[in-house]
Amino acid sequence: MSELDDFRAEARAWLEEHCPDGVRGPGPTTLGYRKLDLGADVKRWLECMAEKGWTVPTWPKKYGGAELDRDQYRVLIEELTHMNARTPLTGRGVNYIGPTILEYGTDDQKARWLPQIARGDGAWAMGYSEPGAGSDLASLQLKAVLDGDHFVLNGRKTWTSDATDCDFIFVLARTSPDKPKHEGISLILVDMDQPGVQVHPIRLLSGKSPFCETVFEDAIARADDVIGGVDNGWTVGKRLLQFERSTHAGINISGSQGGRAEASKVPGIVKRYIGLMGGHVQDPVVRARLSDYSMNHAAQKLTQKRVIEELRSHAPGFASSAVKLSNAILTQEGDELMVEAMGVQGLGVEGDGFEDTETAITRQWLYGKSLTIAGGTKEVQMNIIAKRVLGLPD
Ligand SMILES: Cc1cc2nc3c(=O)[nH]c(=O)nc-3n(C[C@H](O)[C@H](O)[C@H](O)COP(=O)(O)OP(=O)(O)OC[C@H]3O[C@@H](n4cnc5c(N)ncnc54)[C@H](O)[C@@H]3O)c2cc1C
Repeated sequence: MSELDDFRAEARAWLEEHCPDGVRGPGPTTLGYRKLDLGADVKRWLECMAEKGWTVPTWPKKYGGAELDRDQYRVLIEELTHMNARTPLTGRGVNYIGPTILEYGTDDQKARWLPQIARGDGAWAMGYSEPGAGSDLASLQLKAVLDGDHFVLNGRKTWTSDATDCDFIFVLARTSPDKPKHEGISLILVDMDQPGVQVHPIRLLSGKSPFCETVFEDAIARADDVIGGVDNGWTVGKRLLQFERSTHAGINISGSQGGRAEASKVPGIVKRYIGLMGGHVQDPVVRARLSDYSMNHAAQKLTQKRVIEELRSHAPGFASSAVKLSNAILTQEGDELMVEAMGVQGLGVEGDGFEDTETAITRQWLYGKSLTIAGGTKEVQMNIIAKRVLGLPD
């Protein structure tokens, strides 16, 4: 047996012994919430995986990881998928700010923050967008003024997902207003448990919302919680965006066990609603679209695998934009195909007359529209691909 086979056998045995029944199959996954109780099994699963270093498998052991290499990481994901186990911890802590601290943090910052993030002790919000700064992120206006050993922050961030349930937020703030707009920005970590940070949920038409506006009024952040140096936030903040995009793309191996290769449910749903004739989908137009989708889905999975195999660092650079975009478009195409095939059964988000699986698909289709906006819009990704991947002129 090869060393990798040994690792697989050990991982399988350990996971079988430690993975509670309540975290197998669909259900809640923690982002490190202190404020939410997701049940005993989710808590136990998080604790024992963190103890093993498998909430952040590729991180150094001294920061809470297990120092797995790329192949071991892949095997671990395969074994988790094999037993239908949910990831023990996900979110912006392990997937975005953790890997950024790992690359840009000082030794002191790494020692102070990374083990806590790896344990899932506290959930993180992301404070990038502002009312006047989305795609044009460098126009941000949140001010951070140094006052002795701390910064004082004033301004507002919008679309801060999950902020009502979060404990910390990383923000891009303007530390030198007199410098050119890309040069006076810093990435700062802020404890949200203080009167200077107020979170206001933004309600959507559906009546629910993961979105919030987060307001800073004389909020305090430690001066030594600037990651990557004062006024270097544009460089560091862009790298964090690559971690975000590679997480969306399923190719960030520096974070938790995201991007599990799940079989697509699209063919099964389309066949169920359109019906079969001679073993094939009856409608030739839908059949052709389903074939296209299935081939693209297989190609996407192979691309994710290839990008991970070719990685020299823990997450790709500009290629993350390409894989994020293709992943988002493919997901939207699959959702579209399912909802069309369902006909009137694809029109309900609640109420009698719809099965739970039907309303879930319709909600997923609606939510999926945001995939080409969150983490940078489709057009912005295409600009990056044109300039940075294909080398086209401005
Ligand atoms: C589900 C979801 C979760 C989010 N969570 C967070 C979060 O937690 N924290 C956070 O900070 N932000 C979050 N965002 C915000 C997200 O980052 C922004 O919505 C996104 O960057 C776009 O900014 P905007 O909404 O201001 O749109 P705008 O930038 O105003 O864009 C409007 C339109 O103009 C186009 N456009 C703009 N500039 C260009 C250009 N140069 N070339 C071509 N087209 C262009 C865009 O593609 C878009 O179609 C979230 C968004 C979504 C949808």
